[in-house]
Amino acid sequence: MRDRYSALALARHAMTGAAWPRAWRSAEPKSTYDVVIIGGGGHGLATAYYLASRHGITNVAVLERNHIGSGNVGRNTTLVRSNYLLDGNTQFFEYSLKLWEGLSHELNYNVMLSQRGQVVLGHSPAQMDVLARKGNIMRLNGIDAELLDRGDVQRLLPYLDYSTQSRFPIHGGVLQRRAGTVRHDAVAWGYARAASALGVDIIENCEVTGFRREGDRVTGVATSRGPIAAGRTAISVAGHSSQVAALAGLRLPVESHLLQAFVSEPIKPFVNHVISFGAELFYISQSDKGGLVFGAHIDGFNSYTQRGQFQQVQTAAECAVALIPSISRLRLLRHWGGIQDMTPDGSPFICRTPLANLYFNGGWCYQGFKATPAAGWCLAHTVANDDEHPLVRHLGLDRFERGNGHDEYALGLWTYRQ
Ligand SMILES: Cc1cc2nc3c(=O)[nH]c(=O)nc-3n(C[C@H](O)[C@H](O)[C@H](O)COP(=O)(O)OP(=O)(O)OC[C@H]3O[C@@H](n4cnc5c(N)ncnc54)[C@H](O)[C@@H]3O)c2cc1C
Repeated sequence: MRDRYSALALARHAMTGAAWPRAWRSAEPKSTYDVVIIGGGGHGLATAYYLASRHGITNVAVLERNHIGSGNVGRNTTLVRSNYLLDGNTQFFEYSLKLWEGLSHELNYNVMLSQRGQVVLGHSPAQMDVLARKGNIMRLNGIDAELLDRGDVQRLLPYLDYSTQSRFPIHGGVLQRRAGTVRHDAVAWGYARAASALGVDIIENCEVTGFRREGDRVTGVATSRGPIAAGRTAISVAGHSSQVAALAGLRLPVESHLLQAFVSEPIKPFVNHVISFGAELFYISQSDKGGLVFGAHIDGFNSYTQRGQFQQVQTAAECAVALIPSISRLRLLRHWGGIQDMTPDGSPFICRTPLANLYFNGGWCYQGFKATPAAGWCLAHTVANDDEHPLVRHLGLDRFERGNGHDEYALGLWTYRQ
């Protein structure tokens, strides 16, 4: 039984000196489960938690080939928001943001949601039209959005470059006040702890190496720690989606690319929002430790290495200085990478697959962290009911052959191209 975290428990532990129990049990694999989830990232763990807490399915294993938090859930830039353009995606990401808003209480684990607001900048009249359209769509869906003119932006973010000679003059922006950041590894640990307390087995250092099939029905998995039979199996392995799906004979419309993040040396707090540059895929926030965190573009070719190209370091530094010239002498402390599974339309998949009892969650491109609670919620529903959750009916694997791509890539993510 887990110890509930509270001020009282803190005082009790301080007085008695008793060690805190492990946050989750270290489980040995059993020979059979009702549900096996492949991938112990944020999405896999959230799925297990909602299967147990909302659908009463507790005979569940999460199989993670490494340790919990070693994948993209612990490598991202922690940005959460719901400023999406397309019908379907808008509602899905807003549902996710609402789940974030209650998550610390739900999990009894402080995930450190900081709703500091995100400003997306516009650098041309055409771009401002796109931002206005986006903001209107958000407001029509009950999501907070404020269109800012140049003066509004200058009052909110006085340290940006407003000189008339600027290569990317700031015309205005759109602000979502409820957007912000969440402590990423706390999300993995919080979901793991809460799922484990409900009976879910979290099995680390257990790589899935194949699938057991009877005809077109998946009946379990082969793993580095022996075979495991499963009533239902879900793939939730982020950047390794194509590789794992190929083990089941499925070819996905997904490419794997490296995405890097960067952090500077710590400085006094001055960036109080998340700021997205409108002239490149680049955004900036300041961490609690004081480092400026930069997010940028993927490498332009397929790769499974976790080491990025220097070109992206240079682009990120150029964007940072174009936005905030006063940080030109700041040193980058470190940068790291994670593998992104990119889809042709920039929208993800949460769905059944052509194989019975096999479910798929992936193709999250740049946006999977903010989706974590809703992805877990919807995948749990899909697995439990063998039917897609209404919020993700548009995110099937067959949408391209039906000519029904959901092109968030062209319209939503890439505002800066307008
Ligand atoms: C640099 C960077 C910045 C990002 N910034 C943001 C951001 O600001 N906001 C946002 O919304 N998104 C962001 N993302 C995207 C986001 O991190 C991912 O989309 C999301 O974390 C993916 O879901 P996950 O947490 O389940 O993935 P992961 O944590 O990667 O989980 C998948 C797990 O599957 C495991 N696995 C793989 N193969 C196997 C196997 N064969 N057997 C067993 N286990 C296996 C892996 O080890 C991994 O732990 C960013 C990503 C990167 C790399």
